[in-house]
Amino acid sequence: MSLLPDPADHLLDGRGPAHYERDAISAVGMVSARFGNCTAAFSGADHGALRRDVDAVDLERPLGDTAAALRELDDLYLRDAVYFHHPRYLAHLNCPVVTPAVVADAIASAVNSSLDTWDQSGGGTLIEQRLIGWTCERLGFDPQLADGVFTSGGTQSNLHALYLAREHAIAAQSADRVEALARLRVFASADSHFSVRTAARLLGLHPDAVVTVATDQHRRMRADGLRAAITAARTSGAIPMAVVATAGTTDFGVIDPVRSIAEIVQEQPEPVWLHVDAAYGGGLLASPTRRHLLRGIEHAHSATVDFHKSFFQPVSASAILVRRAEWMDAGRHHADYLNPVRMARAGIPNQVDKSLQTTRRFDALKLWLTLRVMGAEAIGELFDRVIELADDAYQLIAADPRFEVLAPSDLSTVVFRYAGSDAANLVAREQLSANAEAMIASTTVDGRTFLKFTLLNPRTTISDVAEVVELIAGYASAHLPAQSSFAS
Ligand SMILES: *Cc1c(COP(=O)(O)O)cnc(C)c1O
Repeated sequence: MSLLPDPADHLLDGRGPAHYERDAISAVGMVSARFGNCTAAFSGADHGALRRDVDAVDLERPLGDTAAALRELDDLYLRDAVYFHHPRYLAHLNCPVVTPAVVADAIASAVNSSLDTWDQSGGGTLIEQRLIGWTCERLGFDPQLADGVFTSGGTQSNLHALYLAREHAIAAQSADRVEALARLRVFASADSHFSVRTAARLLGLHPDAVVTVATDQHRRMRADGLRAAITAARTSGAIPMAVVATAGTTDFGVIDPVRSIAEIVQEQPEPVWLHVDAAYGGGLLASPTRRHLLRGIEHAHSATVDFHKSFFQPVSASAILVRRAEWMDAGRHHADYLNPVRMARAGIPNQVDKSLQTTRRFDALKLWLTLRVMGAEAIGELFDRVIELADDAYQLIAADPRFEVLAPSDLSTVVFRYAGSDAANLVAREQLSANAEAMIASTTVDGRTFLKFTLLNPRTTISDVAEVVELIAGYASAHLPAQSSFAS
């Protein structure tokens, strides 16, 4: 053991002998080597075996030495981590990350700015505000009037948006707050993200507050269905609070008709908040060829954009954007010790005024460095490539009589099933992972099991996809019902 004599020597303060550069470089070297030798998206390791290794580490006995701790970590974690950059990782909404963003994250961790107040971040706050303005401009919001804040993810962005919507709706009511709260309704399709329902519960809305709006054969929210649902709710004495349109559903990559939805929202007699959940589709804001798929989003009251999904950024990086800055005031809180009103009056930029978080990472920095190194078009082009790949993958599977495929996505998912039992499809998925061949996802559609590719890796080729499809067919066809350990 080579424990430093004074624990303070481990501080990153430019003084102690704790070797920041040396240790950072060896960590980078270790990760680089793993990336260089990465032969599978996942080793197929069993969680029981891995847990035994993790549990066996004695946390009361530090190794004292970074090199030794890194070697241990390489074995415990890196060897069996899930690698999103591998071309056969086709499972969830995780992207390979761009190098400028990774480098920026290391800087953000080292400097450790906290973006709650100006006096804990300095220019970090200004960089975040520029990026909020940049995103608002791309959304078609007037950047002079709009605002927003970075969040930990789409879940938090959606919660924040619905919180503002709730306050907006209650303020417009003459009814008593508690009484109004029970009558508020949110309209979303069945394919909207589950965080919309979680948010409604957290916000104290009625258990049935989220009304499911019908979808068409492409799984897009039906505009006439929305109009009917709002009218029915109002007739029954409920208060329409918000509509959540999804620009890229998590399961199908389908974009609701935002423009028609915005028109219906605008024709309502009372103010109804339009939130567009573009956690997935937000990458289209940078696309040189497909920005039009988001048309209508400029009419939203608020929008969610997950940079950690379609902007090739590391987790976490998301934002909530609002068309009018003053709409964020519903969440404003001034603490004497942190961000007193007098600071706001003096124009001191304290993001905690509007954020749901207090201490908050400088997640904006990675997007900043990405834009400064690569530019937005390059990011949008990468997203375009995976959308084109999904199109090719759709054609490939649709032409294969062994498979059934659901309506094509607007983004980069393909949902399909081997024409066989649910169990055969699930076995195929498990086998691909257990044999370290590929990672894919599964979901249930109308009671039946489907397999799913979420394509976010621009390096994945159509031959990768074709090979995985062949493997699926092989495993699924070899699966006899008698061997099944799954209920079908
Ligand atoms: C992923 C996703 C979310 C949740 O975002 P997190 O960043 O995972 O919290 C919300 N909405 C949609 C449409 C998503 O795809």
